Amino acid sequence: MSQEWNIKSRGHVCSLCKESLTDHAPVVSALKETETGYERFDCHPQCWKNTPRDWEPFSVWDGVYNAPVKEEKKEALKKEDAGSLIRRLVTLDDPAMKNVVYVLAVMLERSRIFVERDAKEQEDGTIRRVYEDRKSGDTFVILDPRIRLENLAEVQAQVVALLSGTKTLGEVAQEEQQEENAGGGEDGTGEAQASVPAAD
Ligand SMILES: [Zn+2]
Repeated sequence: MSQEWNIKSRGHVCSLCKESLTDHAPVVSALKETETGYERFDCHPQCWKNTPRDWEPFSVWDGVYNAPVKEEKKEALKKEDAGSLIRRLVTLDDPAMKNVVYVLAVMLERSRIFVERDAKEQEDGTIRRVYEDRKSGDTFVILDPRIRLENLAEVQAQVVALLSGTKTLGEVAQEEQQEENAGGGEDGTGEAQASVPAAD
């Protein structure tokens, strides 16, 4: 599978029995890896438990289904922006932006907008992390590129520049591309995530 990240919206009917999901009731969510990405399941817990299946989920977690609500007042503009920026980037699916996408996801998690549901280590040592938007229930499968500590400040500066509008996506993608060409692939020393700030 070539895709490094992916976005899946939460369903509003049970993927198995096709009946509506109940507001505020428990729901089992699962991701199934397919040749083109991921298929998402949202199910009544009893349907998930009682329906036989011949496949292993990439990821499965328990959550609570919240029916969609109308958008509330526009407070926390910056948080909204981080959320819409990551959606835009995930849709673009540009490998040059993988560091930026990951730092954004961590920032959203620190701000309690995202919750991490799962982490799967890949054969090449990278990690795919499953994040869920607490409010909308959308799921993001994000590649954790194991950013090296000495590169983290630069990536954070790019994210801030994107959020404040001082740089365009094209400019940042170009910087990242140059970095990639210059940097080589030596192994990182140490995980950098501890110093990623929250998005607020
Ligand atoms: Zn069901």
